[in-house]
Amino acid sequence: MKKFLLILILLIVACLAVGGFYYGKIKQQFVKVETVQIDPQLTVYLGGGGNSIVLISEDGSKALVVDTKMKKAAEKLRETVKASDITIVNTHAHFDHTGGNSLYPSAKIISGAYTAEQWNNESKKTSRYPDVVLKTGEEKVINVGSEIVHVRNMGRAHTWNDVIVYCEKRKLLVTGDLVFIDMHPALYAKSGASVASWIGVLDSLSKQYEIKILIPGHGKISDQSALATMRDYFVSIGDAIGKPDKQADLKKKYQDYFSLPCIFSFRNTTKFIEKERKSQ
Ligand SMILES: [Zn+2]
Repeated sequence: MKKFLLILILLIVACLAVGGFYYGKIKQQFVKVETVQIDPQLTVYLGGGGNSIVLISEDGSKALVVDTKMKKAAEKLRETVKASDITIVNTHAHFDHTGGNSLYPSAKIISGAYTAEQWNNESKKTSRYPDVVLKTGEEKVINVGSEIVHVRNMGRAHTWNDVIVYCEKRKLLVTGDLVFIDMHPALYAKSGASVASWIGVLDSLSKQYEIKILIPGHGKISDQSALATMRDYFVSIGDAIGKPDKQADLKKKYQDYFSLPCIFSFRNTTKFIEKERKSQ
């Protein structure tokens, strides 16, 4: 009986330690917000859900908010936006990017052309349906002060519709979850994820835009090279399927990437690509 109790206690301690370890990792990635001032008009808010940018016109009257985070971080972000004329772009419908939309009741929301059902499912009803929806390949140009902002639906990749924001003068690209830095990507078939299409979208972005600053959906600020890194991640994992030695090497290569078992991990990406290939 004593031995059984001891094993039980050890098991509970181990579970708490593992739980604490992952809680720490989740907190770092999804709760903590880091502010990076790119210039007087443009601020990047990393973490607290998906990464966000806020671009303010020189006269302070107009603001563009790209992705609105979730929960407490969404409220903090909202407090920083003082302009009266606000446009929100949601790079995609996932709730960690749309969770703060309801805090901007008079803002105009732009996103991809999801069906109402897809929008509600993916955003977990955190946001009303967008006011402006862009179809695949469609682009909208907005002027925010002296900046010319291109908002374009790149089509299916991480979800059914993935929208990017490109600030022409700054050569700054906001990719949403088309790019994850130092972490395994979230791949959900029910969200419309397609790795084959995603690789094509990364190629298009590399060809279409000259990028000095790249803001990923999750992870730190990067540059043009992040597109090739993301592409290489998918292509190399796909190429290694059925080749255990190659797979072992890659697993090592990506061992420091942020992962959550069964949600985002090396195994998860491999399984997803395997399944996608079988269904093609
Ligand atoms: Zn996402």
